[in-house]
Amino acid sequence: MKFAALLLLAALAPTASATADAAFSHCLQTLRGKASAAGVPPAAFDAYTRDLSPDPSVLELLDAQPEFTTPIWDYLAALVDSRRIAQGREMLARHAETLERVEEKYRVDPATVVAVWGVESDYGQVFGKRPLLQSLATLSCAGRRQSFFQGELFALLKLLHAGDLSADGLAGSWAGAFGHTQFMPSTYARIAVDFDGDGRRDLVSSIADALASTAHYLQRSGWRGGEPWGFEVRIPEGFDVSLAGRKNKRALADWSERGITRVDGEPVPNADVKAALLLPAGAAGPAWLALRNYDAIYSYNAAESYALAIALLSDQLRDAPAQQTPWPTDDPGLGRDERQQLQRLLLARGHAIGEADGLIGTLTRRAIVVEQQRLGLEPADGRAGRKILDALLPAHTEPANESPVGE
Ligand code: CA
Repeated sequence: MKFAALLLLAALAPTASATADAAFSHCLQTLRGKASAAGVPPAAFDAYTRDLSPDPSVLELLDAQPEFTTPIWDYLAALVDSRRIAQGREMLARHAETLERVEEKYRVDPATVVAVWGVESDYGQVFGKRPLLQSLATLSCAGRRQSFFQGELFALLKLLHAGDLSADGLAGSWAGAFGHTQFMPSTYARIAVDFDGDGRRDLVSSIADALASTAHYLQRSGWRGGEPWGFEVRIPEGFDVSLAGRKNKRALADWSERGITRVDGEPVPNADVKAALLLPAGAAGPAWLALRNYDAIYSYNAAESYALAIALLSDQLRDAPAQQTPWPTDDPGLGRDERQQLQRLLLARGHAIGEADGLIGTLTRRAIVVEQQRLGLEPADGRAGRKILDALLPAHTEPANESPVGE
C-alpha cells in the first residue's frame, strides 16, 4: 500500500501517466479488499471504480495554503449579499409547506434551514464540479490523509450500492462534499433522511430530502427549538476582550454584570442560559452573544466565518434586525453583484481577466493591483473592496484620452 502510494505520487508527472495509471490500479486492488471488509461488495466496487483514473490536481489542493488572508467582512459580504437574501426569501416561500413539516419533525425553523442551504450550495446552484469518485479515489491512494478519504470513498460506494444516489455525473468539491447540503459521504450516511418518501435518501436531486437532512443534522448537533442562535450586543469601553471566544461560555446575567447590553442599549435578557461573546474583528467591530444553537450551526462546517454567515443570513431571512455595528474598516467588502460590476469595469479598462463571474481569482487580483497603483490607492494589494470599485465607477473615470491598461 505504502509502496503503491509512493509510486503513484512519483508517477503523477504528466509524462508518466501510464505508470501512474498502473500504480493507481494497484492501489484500487488493495482498496477492493478493504472496501469489502467495510461492507462494499466487490462487484459494486468494481462497477463504480472500473473506469476511474487519478486526478493529481486534488492532491495539490490538499496541501495548498491560502494565498491571501481574507478579512471576515469580505467573506460575509459575499455570503450574505443582497442576491442570497432575495433568493433565500424566494426559497422560503416556494418550499414553505416542506419547511413547515421539517420544523414539525426536527424543531429547526425554516429561516435557519434555508440559510444553511444558501451558504452551503447557494440553494442548489453550486454543488462543486469535480467528479466525486475520482477525487475520493485519488485522495485514498496518495497524499497525507489516505485513511480518512478511504472511509469517505467506502461510504460513498455504499450509498451508490444502496441506490440512494446515482453515480451519473456525481460531482462535488475536491475534498468530497457534495449535493444541496455539501455533506461528506460519511456524514450523509449517518444523517441523510428520505423526506419525500421515494425510498431513497437523495441529497443531490431531492430538495425535500436535503432540507430535512439539514434540519436533522442541526437537531443531532444539539439544536434547541424556539431558541435564537444569538443576538448582537454592545460591549463597554475598556472591556476585557480576552473573555471573547466561542468556547468561553458564561451565564447571560454574568455578561450583563460586565456591562454588555443588547446593541440597542436594552439589557441582556436575564435568562438562565449560557452564551459566548463573539468579537470576530476585535473590540472595535461588531459583537454578538452566541447561544447553544450557534454551536449547532458551527458544527456544520467548523469555521467561525461560515457559522456567522449562516446565522446572519438566517436573521435576514426571518426579517430580524440586520447587523448594526459596522466592521472596523473604511473599505467594506463586496457582494457578488458588486464583484461582477468591478470585473466589468476592469474588462472595460482592457484587463484580460476572463468572464465577469464574480469570483475573485488571480487575474482579477492582478488587474486590481495595476489599477490601485495607477490610482495611487494604498495598499495596492489586489483586494476587491468598495474603494477600488468606487474609484473605477464612471463618475471617477479618468479623461478618455488616457489609454487603457493592458495585461
Ligand atoms: Ca427521497
